[in-house]
Amino acid sequence: NAKEEGDGYFRYYKPNLLPLIAEKMQLENGLYKALQENQFYLQYQPKMSSVTGELCGIEALIRWNHPELGFIPPDKFIPLAEESGFIMEIDRWVFREACRQNKAWQDAGLKRASVSVNISARHFYQGNLKEMITEELQATGLEPQYVSLEITEGVFMRNIEKVIETIQHLRGLGIQISIDDFGTGYSSLSQLQRLPISDVKLDRSFIRGITIEDKRSSIVRAIIELAHSMNMRVVAEGVETPDEADFCRNLNCDELQGYLFSRPLPASDFEKLLA
Ligand code: C2E
Ligand code: MG
Ligand code: MG
Ligand code: MG
Repeated sequence: NAKEEGDGYFRYYKPNLLPLIAEKMQLENGLYKALQENQFYLQYQPKMSSVTGELCGIEALIRWNHPELGFIPPDKFIPLAEESGFIMEIDRWVFREACRQNKAWQDAGLKRASVSVNISARHFYQGNLKEMITEELQATGLEPQYVSLEITEGVFMRNIEKVIETIQHLRGLGIQISIDDFGTGYSSLSQLQRLPISDVKLDRSFIRGITIEDKRSSIVRAIIELAHSMNMRVVAEGVETPDEADFCRNLNCDELQGYLFSRPLPASDFEKLLA
């Protein structure tokens, strides 16, 4: 009877919840092995100058090819890695691999462009981002002006003084700093004024299907004008259609990124864009 099986609450939830918890544990436990056994790899997506139409930057994006579960998107495992702290190891690996690859492209005589690496906000509070960056730049031989770090607005939530000090130090080395997914978090442009940021990446929710009549267009216009007045560039993310690209160009957005130009590509295919 019901009493022996436990109450209805458990009978109802157990079958649905357990596989989720099991999968989460499987992924979390698998992260360490993934790094040891080279299950991670990077794809690269170009950023295009909205003025010249040329490639002007490269974003590195992590991929996980799990031996049993197959492809796992970063939105699924990066949050787990952030929870457990293992993100520090992953960020270092991504940074090293992206720098190594960009240096190899440069040494092969391909176009020189800066490579952007997504760095968890956690790396700005804990651990030693400055040392990690210096060590890996030295190990790979890539010059700092060819490196950019993308951080989300979450970085403003805590220990703002340490964050500012770290960003200033990195800018001093010649590294660029971008605010990723701008407009979705809690920061404001006035907060950005305190930080030596190179550019803001407008979140793709502002770009999708946008037209001049759209309410969002006055917000986008204001963000771009303010960013420019603070000497920051603006990158539009998630540009998928020619209309979206025209809209961004008309508002003087500096760079465009999205499926319209290219999906993220494996290194061997990305090389052709640089050649
Ligand atoms: P993000 O840094 O904002 O990256 C942009 C995401 O949008 C990427 O998804 C990219 O593939 C996707 N995207 C690019 N163009 C378009 C487009 O035109 N339309 C649409 N619908 N999507 C587009 P992805 O690679 O799945 O990465 C998701 C997020 O995971 C990233 O967002 C970033 O926050 C995180 N992430 C990815 N790689 C890394 C990494 O190496 N380290 C860390 N810490 N986070 C990473
Ligand atoms: Mg990014
Ligand atoms: Mg983004
Ligand atoms: Mg994102």
